Amino acid sequence: MTSLLVRNATILTMNDAFDVVEGAVLVRDGRIVAVGAEATIGSTPVDRVLDARQGFVLPGLVQTHVHLCQTLFRGYADDLPLLDWLRQRVWPLEAAHTPASLRASTALAAAELLLTGTTSVLTMETVHDTDAVLECLVGTGLRATVGKCMMDAPAEGVPPRLRESARRAIDESVALRRRWHGAGEGRLRVALAPRFAVSCTRDLLEAAAAVSAQEQVVVHTHASESRAEVDLVRRQTGMNNVAYLDATGLATSRLCVAHCIWIDDEEQRLIAERDVKVLHCPGSNLKLGSGLAPIAELAGRGVCVSLGADGAACNNRLDMFAEMRLAATLQAVRRGPGVLRARDVVWMATRGGARTLGADRELGSIEPGKHADLIVVDRSRPHLASAPDPYSALVYAAGGSDVRATVVGGAVLVDEFALTRIDPARAAAEAADEARRLAARAGL
Ligand SMILES: [Zn+2]
Repeated sequence: MTSLLVRNATILTMNDAFDVVEGAVLVRDGRIVAVGAEATIGSTPVDRVLDARQGFVLPGLVQTHVHLCQTLFRGYADDLPLLDWLRQRVWPLEAAHTPASLRASTALAAAELLLTGTTSVLTMETVHDTDAVLECLVGTGLRATVGKCMMDAPAEGVPPRLRESARRAIDESVALRRRWHGAGEGRLRVALAPRFAVSCTRDLLEAAAAVSAQEQVVVHTHASESRAEVDLVRRQTGMNNVAYLDATGLATSRLCVAHCIWIDDEEQRLIAERDVKVLHCPGSNLKLGSGLAPIAELAGRGVCVSLGADGAACNNRLDMFAEMRLAATLQAVRRGPGVLRARDVVWMATRGGARTLGADRELGSIEPGKHADLIVVDRSRPHLASAPDPYSALVYAAGGSDVRATVVGGAVLVDEFALTRIDPARAAAEAADEARRLAARAGL
């Protein structure tokens, strides 16, 4: 039995009432057991005290769209639109991955994510060797829902190594789930990850829908990210992306769709009606020149929207604070300031992420019974010191480098701005070495 007391904190609970509490959080065996004034929590001895003086304590950030395997591609795939970016850089690099390069990429990503306050991710990996990613994740302490990328269609520019049969893609995904779902003391989960309509046959998408329904598995995919992709899907299927996903049986409350930029009114209605989850990636959408997603409209229809950095190959940061700021400011450009407020954006980054993963009862707020995933943001810094509203401070002024502590399942993984389980110098050196060799294998 291990216990942790986070004290002297301004706690943004992100509960249904958005209560902000001055006091402490008591954690036992990885779960939150009490939140409130320190005097009411009791004085039983604890194994560890984390002093959050001059800090905002908030739920750990949940990023619902990342690709850990692409972290080594950072800087190797700049300045291209989506389909060229995939064909010329990302697919050749993914095809050149080995278990060693995947481990280096995962460790580097975990280091960056934890240092900048992300405690949970939904990640789409590559076609092969996803065991290496999961093995590495166990040691990092990060909470992750991982899917092996599924691609079986003869799409233009796909290297032979990334194509497999629909049967093999499904069998391997199911086998990964048998091996890893619930591993790492329950932190690791396994999802299905058909890449996008362009690289999957209808047979594969229908088979994924059947497995998702049978086993209640989350499905993680991309759709309507660029206009060229939407045109391609229309040519191949005669339908828009979301209508096509619906026709395959995938459009359910378990479907998590990244981007959703170029969606019409009918698709927005369908997303809301089926409770499909939208994964908003504003940084990636800007860098690839993809477009501005209609997030205010989706939120207005009651759609659950959450946030992700996407990969380091298209962002190139994994800092959720950058995504929060962009999420708010881009909607201000589209629809006017105030259409998506700072508090709504913090909700997307915490509760929205938890709901997307089907884990709203386990994650996303600081409430008794939930996993003790929380972060401490240093509010003594010049750019945060005088802000009257904590949500405004976090969304508009804070950055990932303001995160002083990161706790996942009661384990302190970042303490006084330093990683406790990952050696950052070693992770950086291994990543630089593996990235060079990976790029050489890919012919870049
Ligand atoms: Zn992506």
